Amino acid sequence: MDIVDDLRRNGLRNTKCRTAILDILEQSDQPVAADRLFRELNEKDITVSFSTVYRTLEALTDKKLVTKLIIAGEDKALFEYNRMGHRHYLICLGCKRILAIEHCPLEGYEETLKKETDYVIAGHKLNIYGYCPDCQKNE
Ligand SMILES: [Zn+2]
Ligand SMILES: [Zn+2]
Repeated sequence: MDIVDDLRRNGLRNTKCRTAILDILEQSDQPVAADRLFRELNEKDITVSFSTVYRTLEALTDKKLVTKLIIAGEDKALFEYNRMGHRHYLICLGCKRILAIEHCPLEGYEETLKKETDYVIAGHKLNIYGYCPDCQKNE
């Protein structure tokens, strides 16, 4: 997927900051917090303020290029590149490690629900929480 086309199609100006943010998110296999994006941008010599990073993320979220993820027990929102389809995550409550679950367990259930309720199903959000093997050992 071409990021510049993505931006253009969505009526966003192709600024360096936006492109770089999308670039980082697309290459990350994990959702990323705004402050980490801010650090990575500065490492790439893209000098922007934290509030610019945050505003850009909000704009990209509005345009549905980026998905905002709120995780229980975390005060920071995480952001991920909005790939076709969606992902679920297994989140460790101890070390906050996040594992992407490739398989969607709810696809069949959406169909069933649609038939049972006559709703048009628009989607779902699901994250699973637990303790990873390392955190279990440290208990
Ligand atoms: Zn853990
Ligand atoms: Zn799913």
